[in-house]
Order: sequence, then C-alpha cells, then structure tokens
Amino acid sequence: MRLRPLALPGHQSSEGAHANGPEYCGIVEETGSEVQSVKPGQFVIGSFFASDNICPNCTFGYPSSCERREFVSTAQAPFLRVPLADGTLVAAPALPAQDLIPSLLTISDVLGTGWFAAAAANVKPGATVAVVGDGAVGLLAVLSAKQMGAERIIAMSRHQARQQVAREFGATGIISERGDQGAARVKDLTDGIGADSVLECVGTQESMVQSSSSARKGGYVSYVGVPHGVELNGEMLFYSHVHLHGGPAPVRRFLPELLRLVWERKIDPGKVFDLTLPLHEVAEGCRATDERRAIKALLRP
Ligand SMILES: [Zn+2]
Repeated sequence: MRLRPLALPGHQSSEGAHANGPEYCGIVEETGSEVQSVKPGQFVIGSFFASDNICPNCTFGYPSSCERREFVSTAQAPFLRVPLADGTLVAAPALPAQDLIPSLLTISDVLGTGWFAAAAANVKPGATVAVVGDGAVGLLAVLSAKQMGAERIIAMSRHQARQQVAREFGATGIISERGDQGAARVKDLTDGIGADSVLECVGTQESMVQSSSSARKGGYVSYVGVPHGVELNGEMLFYSHVHLHGGPAPVRRFLPELLRLVWERKIDPGKVFDLTLPLHEVAEGCRATDERRAIKALLRP
C-alpha cells in the first residue's frame, strides 16, 4: 500500500538502525493473490499487529494476540507491505477528505490504544475516571472515556498544552501531582473513595502504583503502556480489590467503530498531532516529541 501520513511512536528504546513506525493508513497499491477483502485504490487502516481475524484469540476479541500475528513496524516509509491483509485492514467508505486524514491515522494506534484503555477499565455512563499519562494515548483515553459516557474525567498532566487538549477532549479536572501525591489528589476529588476506572497510559513503576492507588475498592485499572521494570505488590493488590486488565491493545477489534466515529465527524482525535513534517525529517519529529516540544508528529511522504 502507498502510505499517506505516518505517525511517530511514543517512548521506545531501539537498538541499532532499523525502519520504524507502527502507525499507518493509506491507499492500496497492489494486493497478493489470496487477498479478497480489499482492493487497489481503496483507503485502508490497519493496526500495529497484523491479525487473521478468524483464530480463537481474534474471535474472542484479542487480535493483538492473534495466533498468526505479525508486528507491523516499518511504516515510516513511502510504501508498506501489510501481512494478513484480509484480517488486518479495514477500508474506508471512500477516499477521505484531507482534513480527516490525521484523525484516521490515530485510529491505527494511539486512538485504538486509548479506546482499549477505557474499555478495559470498564468505563460506563456516569463513571468517574482518572487518566494517568498525558501523551497522545493518555489524551485519547480521555476522549474515549468521554465517548463512553464518563461523567467526571480527571487527567494527570503537568504540561499546559497537553492539559488544554485534555480539556478539549472532555477532561473535567486536571491533577499535576504524581505518584502517591497524585493518588491522594484523586481521593480528595472523589470524597476519599477513588475513581471507578483508572486508565494507566505510561508503563512505569510510579504510574502503575499511582493508578492502582487511585482506584476505588473494586474499581478497574487498565494498563496500555508497555511496562518497563514494573513490579506490583501482591498484598496491596489483594486488599485493593481492583480489577486489572491491560496489554497490547486489540486495535483491530475497534477499527470499524472508530472509523465510523471519525468518518461521521463525531470525534476529532487528530488534534493530538501538533507538528507536521515531511517524511525525511523523521529525526526532527523524534527529537521534538522526546523533548516535549510536540505531543505527536505527523509525517507526510
Ligand atoms: Zn487471529
């Protein structure tokens, strides 16, 4: 497929030189002989895990654990080969308007992951939700919680520009403290009870502990950031009564619904892109997000 804009991924260490990029949408150039569901000329979106959409894990709702899954990680390029195209790709109803493309691109990873954070934390109409992490995934987790009917959404952020986007996406309160202090502030704001749903979108020891301490007894904590060196205290978990659910987001499960919401302009997740660069300036995009000068960079081939 020929790629349209591409996105830069969040914090991941890398070893040696390799092509990068797990987020993509674009126009199909050519299909393999067995591909039936998409055809050249269509505008398609896929997830960072290619999946067959028919194995027991896919049909149970976890395509990111597909028995035949393949990681798609070389999208920062003019062309991309997508394996298992029939299961992986979802076609848009038509070629999209240019202004829809940033939002369509978010579906591929950061929106799909934020949506899973909200779904896995059982966000329901009327719920009180706390979101830990103000990167693109955290901000889109706020948007997702809002779509699922949350009444109060507390976003944890220290960055003014990100706080502003969080509010535009539906945050009703902002907490700038972290760790135990951040958890204590959530308790303060919820009459000492804690949030019904806590969406952990960072993946550090501090953020995991903060998240599980911010939830009410019997509440739900989702975690969608890849954990780096995280160890949880079993006794603390035992007495917290929290439900924990996370992992690599099963984005493929949500693609049709998210595509519809963007297509009908019900949501505008593309706001997370605050920097647009030509593909050959990918390194500057990485620097800008690393130095927190940008939330997320969009690359145009
Ligand atoms: Zn599968």
